[in-house]
Amino acid sequence: MSSERHIVALVPAYNEEKSIAATIEAVLNQERVPDKIVIIPNGCSDRTADIARTFPVTVMELPRLEHKKSEALNRAWLQYAQDADVVICLDADTVLPPNAIGDWEQEFVYDWARHGSQAVTAFAGTGSSPAPLRSRDIRELPLGGSSSKFTMLGKDFLTRLQRAEFSRWTDTALRRGWTSVLAGTGAAISGEALRQVAAMDDREGPWIYSSQVEDFELTYRIRQLGYRCQVSPTVRAYTDAMKTVKALWGQRMKWQVGTIEDLLKIGVNRLTVMDWFQQLSGMFSAFARYLWVAVILTLCLVGHLRFQWLWWVAVPLFFVVLQVKHAHRIPHRDRVDVLYAFLIIPSEAFAWLRAGWFTAAWIQAPVDLIRGRHKDRWGLQYRAEAFRRGLVGKLRLAGIRVVAASGIATVALLSIGNLVPASGLPTVEAIARTGTGAINHSGPATCRGYVALTYDDGPTQYTAATSDLLRRYGLHAAFFLTGEHTELNPDAVRALAADGQMIGNHTVTHPHLTDLPISQAKQEILDNADLIEAVTGQRPTLFRPPYGDTNDKLSAFALRNGMPETLWTLDTNDWIGKTPSQVDDEIGKAKDGDIILMHDDEDTDIKTVALIASTLRRLDLCTGRIVPDSASHHIPLLDKSHSVKVVPW
Ligand SMILES: [Zn+2]
Repeated sequence: MSSERHIVALVPAYNEEKSIAATIEAVLNQERVPDKIVIIPNGCSDRTADIARTFPVTVMELPRLEHKKSEALNRAWLQYAQDADVVICLDADTVLPPNAIGDWEQEFVYDWARHGSQAVTAFAGTGSSPAPLRSRDIRELPLGGSSSKFTMLGKDFLTRLQRAEFSRWTDTALRRGWTSVLAGTGAAISGEALRQVAAMDDREGPWIYSSQVEDFELTYRIRQLGYRCQVSPTVRAYTDAMKTVKALWGQRMKWQVGTIEDLLKIGVNRLTVMDWFQQLSGMFSAFARYLWVAVILTLCLVGHLRFQWLWWVAVPLFFVVLQVKHAHRIPHRDRVDVLYAFLIIPSEAFAWLRAGWFTAAWIQAPVDLIRGRHKDRWGLQYRAEAFRRGLVGKLRLAGIRVVAASGIATVALLSIGNLVPASGLPTVEAIARTGTGAINHSGPATCRGYVALTYDDGPTQYTAATSDLLRRYGLHAAFFLTGEHTELNPDAVRALAADGQMIGNHTVTHPHLTDLPISQAKQEILDNADLIEAVTGQRPTLFRPPYGDTNDKLSAFALRNGMPETLWTLDTNDWIGKTPSQVDDEIGKAKDGDIILMHDDEDTDIKTVALIASTLRRLDLCTGRIVPDSASHHIPLLDKSHSVKVVPW
């Protein structure tokens, strides 16, 4: 039966040479590989198309299109996906875990079995949609599409805030059983629903050109036809967060203005009532904050800068209570119980940013609509430029500065004494650990040799997600942990132990051991072993000196303590900021017995796993275990020796 279902993946790409390889490789490595994978580089001035052509996928290269991503999707859909049962839409910087497409397929198969047919009798009518309002009734509708749960990678403050926000979004959608956006980032859409939307007379294909948030518009049309759109409970997608406030602002202005424009066009109905409510509550929370700052400023100006309980304590406390209430809804809030008070700082900073773009968008969208002008917000997002000349732009710039200044003041006020922002947020590892994808143990049919993957300097917030993906790809690795990082991320170390990875000792503080008195160097090793044992119940089984900086006494000491010294024979040099494909290029040089050095401190770790899995399979190499060896092996790369070897796992 499964071969009868036709699944097509569409991946529009605009200048994504850095990420496209990881995206494609993750699709090719799915437990259920799509029947057709169409990469659509459009208007690219970089090597995106060339890189895509090195994979067994269909590359539909298009010039710069007037309607950009929407037009690219429509053209590819018309040519390759019109007859598909399920269409997977992916951004070219999204990485899917191996279970994604198979799980999506099962969601549809289950639904088709329940409803007997893929099609819905269209009862679309503008204005008076008969769609049900209650979640319980919505759950009875046939499935139109399933969005992924995005997991944003990154350890910076801004990424953590976006991650918390998206986890809240996911949680809300999962709880009520439906969503109003099948995100273009990664979603599976019913082929029948797409055909019905494409047949509407205002468009060339499923995606419309007059909306700036084409995925929101498409989802609305699908829901209007009587389908349910949901967030998948099991499909996760790893994606990039906006790294700067300016980029985040550009992205959110595009979403906000686009959503408001569409809502104003569509009006209030049963399908949009929740979106309208969200807009109103966004504006309410913005105005509440402006009002508070205005009152404080007024008090200052009129010379009443006395301490007033109502304005200095009661009102902020009201915000605090609201945020804590929100915080309680963040899934996996294991440490939130202890630390949720800290959540006020980052979430309040984010609330100010949100207040900014809500306000700006509500000024911008009606102005645009009245002037009948259509601004190219795609370009804005691509360039991450949020500003433009003219009165509106200047006003907005001034507005942003006021909002930013007040935001910073508020944050400073609220954060005195609290130096651990975002500690209570769900970590990537916490999120990754809830993945339910089947474990894929299928390595190459024949292992012509064994290599060891090793990750140094962790654990970090990427460690558990990396380990989880390795496990799903049937790969193993050794993680050489420092004590300082173990203390910061004990959960990640437990995750490694639970996944059965090798755990190595990389000292407590990562010093040049040979520069230390020998007793102190030995203490670095022993203390870290004690620490790791305290966390996992097991002592590390390997030792790697930081910088490979060692001598005979140290190697003998480590060996006597059950941790044979392990250097490396292949260096990916990943720490200099290489892209996933550049790291993978180095892995491509691996041969039997190699011990491969990588570092566990960049988000590329996660995106590289699918590439590594496929490269090793191509080379017929499996990942093995590092064990002590009686012989000493010289390593030309380092001009040093070690006495370990790689054996079958
Ligand atoms: Zn190191």
